[in-house]
Amino acid sequence: ARPVSFAPRPVPLSPTLAVNEALARKRREGVRVLPLGFGEAGIPIHPALTRELAAAAGRGGYGPVAGSAALRAAAAGYWARRGLPTDPSTVVCGPGSKPLLFALLMALGGDVVVPTPSWVSYAAQAPLAGVRPVRVATPPGEGGVPREALLADAVVRARAAGRTVRTVIVTLPDNPTGTLASAETVRRLCAVARDLDLVIISDEIYRDLVHDPARAVPSPARYAPERTVVTTALSKSLAAGGWRLGVARLPDGPFGAALRAGVLGTASEIWSSAPAPMQHAAAYAFAEPPELVEHIDRSRRLHAAVTRAVAARFAEAGARVPRPQGAFYVYPDLAPLRDELRRGNGVRTSADLSGLLLERYGVGVLPGSSFGEPPGALRLRVAPSLLYGETDEQRLTALASPD
Ligand code: PLP
Repeated sequence: ARPVSFAPRPVPLSPTLAVNEALARKRREGVRVLPLGFGEAGIPIHPALTRELAAAAGRGGYGPVAGSAALRAAAAGYWARRGLPTDPSTVVCGPGSKPLLFALLMALGGDVVVPTPSWVSYAAQAPLAGVRPVRVATPPGEGGVPREALLADAVVRARAAGRTVRTVIVTLPDNPTGTLASAETVRRLCAVARDLDLVIISDEIYRDLVHDPARAVPSPARYAPERTVVTTALSKSLAAGGWRLGVARLPDGPFGAALRAGVLGTASEIWSSAPAPMQHAAAYAFAEPPELVEHIDRSRRLHAAVTRAVAARFAEAGARVPRPQGAFYVYPDLAPLRDELRRGNGVRTSADLSGLLLERYGVGVLPGSSFGEPPGALRLRVAPSLLYGETDEQRLTALASPD
């Protein structure tokens, strides 16, 4: 046999999945692991959703590339109930929102503004789609949406250097900081996006896990509907990430139609159509039957309580922590503890610390550097399943009492 002389193109494993696999390895070695890395809700899948999936298990055929009419209509209804009237013909479904985001970057075909910190895959997908990320810092206390002046500055400079910048991604509420930008911040971003002719991709996968139910998510689709794409999925609020089902809401009009054609072209060459049984279950979920609404509400309350408690403990220990406002993340900045960490363990960066936690204690967290941050921060995903107690009520009581 003649060995192959070249190396395949290096594509690193996404840090979220890498920490998952590292923990699985530790578990096989007999270590009691604590999974605080992978972004997953700690609630069970609702039996009504499983029932719907099972009812459609016999559907083995390929479906329309954009998704079934029933699913697109249900997703349109879901958005309409959130103040975003939606024509089902502008909805596209895919096997998770991650591949939809990739197909959008492919179709848009220009460089993309990515907040720092932000979800690991935006910047990692860009080169795979043949474009480059333009990083813009956001304050951790109100992350996910670049401030208008920094956005304008970064885009003008990148364009002056000959780059074609077409898109800005925002996350509402945010991963990794767990915060939710204000309506004013979003409105200003939309004004700049219009001035600079940018498309906004608004990743609203954590929308239904905003801790304060009275707080509305200020979607850019309200302020700049002609240029905003919204994405969401079943993965987070219904803990069905492994089922791989996401949806995107594209703008109305000729630009939206052209973008849709581009997304469907990529979709048709990569996934053809999302799995039919999942689409059936998703149509049921997006119709928001009361049992699922209640399930999500319990999850929201539990995640609110557990993230608040964990953030408070980090603050007591001297870390800087943004107040968690949504999702299931706590994002402590350990820079104030730097000297202490360095003295005891030689820890210099967030990657050193997450490596130490994994190797010594089997605790899986993600370093801030995975989200494009300079050293200092860690992202912890905290879920009610990590708490003691059999029932949600017992867990909430345990949280309320110190130790
Ligand atoms: N967007 C954000 C902000 C996420 O945190 C994730 C998952 O971690 C995704 C998108 C992708 O989720 P999925 O592909 O399961 O829809």
